[in-house]
Amino acid sequence: MKPYAEMTREELLELKKELKGKYKDMQALALKLDMSRGKPCTAQLDLSMGMMAVLNEDTELRSEDGTDCRNYGVLTGIPEALELMGDMMEVPYDHIILYGNSSLNVMYDTISRSYTHGVMGSTPWCKLDKVKFLCVVPGYDRHFAITEYFGIENIPVPMLPTGPDMNIVEKLVAEDEAIKGIWCVPKYSNPTGNSYSDETVRRMARLKPAAKDFRIYWDNAYTIHHLYDHDQDTIIEILAECKRAGNPDLVYKFASTSKVSFPGSGIAALASSLNNLEDIKKQLKVQTIGHDKVNQLRHVRFFEDIHGMVEHMRKHADILRPKFEMVEEILDRELGGLGIGTWTKPKGGYFISFDTLEGCAKKVVSRCAKAGVIMTSAGATWPGGKDPHDSNIRIAPSFPPLNDLRIAAELFTLCVKYVSVEKLLANMDAAE
Ligand code: PMP
Repeated sequence: MKPYAEMTREELLELKKELKGKYKDMQALALKLDMSRGKPCTAQLDLSMGMMAVLNEDTELRSEDGTDCRNYGVLTGIPEALELMGDMMEVPYDHIILYGNSSLNVMYDTISRSYTHGVMGSTPWCKLDKVKFLCVVPGYDRHFAITEYFGIENIPVPMLPTGPDMNIVEKLVAEDEAIKGIWCVPKYSNPTGNSYSDETVRRMARLKPAAKDFRIYWDNAYTIHHLYDHDQDTIIEILAECKRAGNPDLVYKFASTSKVSFPGSGIAALASSLNNLEDIKKQLKVQTIGHDKVNQLRHVRFFEDIHGMVEHMRKHADILRPKFEMVEEILDRELGGLGIGTWTKPKGGYFISFDTLEGCAKKVVSRCAKAGVIMTSAGATWPGGKDPHDSNIRIAPSFPPLNDLRIAAELFTLCVKYVSVEKLLANMDAAE
């Protein structure tokens, strides 16, 4: 089929009739599918059930250094869990704090502390007239929600295939002291699946922010979440790069085992310079006597070391890869060459990012919903839920079983076609 933009009105009207018929047929199936959030599927969760067996009433619950993990204490994490998370995050174990069950919680907490108490002695953000944050778009809605919650102005910066547009980032942070941070998902980014190039990471580490309390919020949520064994993205380790660049305190790095073991029941961690960690610990020791050491021990006993974790991630990949490949195959087959959408082909992570023609995303998502398939809301990948182009849609293939996913992806492509035809016809009417 030729590109839709080359079709005459008559051809488009004919096509619309055909698509409408197909859409009605799909509606008649009364589907009830959810492709909205990047959750692991049941089979993925089953992979970690062995974790339930590594501890029982006879198990010795002492950590390597003799700490009784059943009792209070140990602020930053038991040594063997620090080592495991350090290997996963590619940083030395003494540059990490282990937290509770959610890295998002740690990010919230980091913003909250900066807001009430400031960063390493600088003015708390709550005492400033204006605080701004850079948001790489399309990006992760829950990041944007945190800064928005604190009344911080979110400023979109475009995500390129190589990472954030660094020309814009460098200029903005150098000029404006009100900009205190940037939200980044550097590897298999949410939602594009792209990873930052070496040049991007090097430029990040060499930023010259006007604000001395500016920090890069480096959310490496998908650090070991590859889909392929032999074709993997690698990125430069940011903490070491910041140190090399003479900016050791510039970054906070976050990660968790949410999509390694159990989402909501994993281990979250923050890695940073020793100076930053000292600053953070002043708050942490007031906040808690220590996080869940039994869970830390359970993770180490189950994975043993980073090799066990990497092996475990291969099993996740075996479940996820066919899902990603099937969605990509359907997108290629149904939409390839039509000129009504572009999409990413990630080698890891949890998402595919799809861009419709300008002004179509909301209608596509709404048409999908009316036929029983829930997608992530259009606009969610932009601060405030407002995509100025109304074009970006995040596709999350992980959760539905393969067969449901096939139907959902087919419905999605049908809705993209249907809404695009309507849009092109409306454009023709407007031009007359
Ligand atoms: N960061 C990113 C980029 C994510 O995609 C997600 C989960 N969807 C999270 C953080 C949440 O992580 P956690 O479960 O550790 O809070």
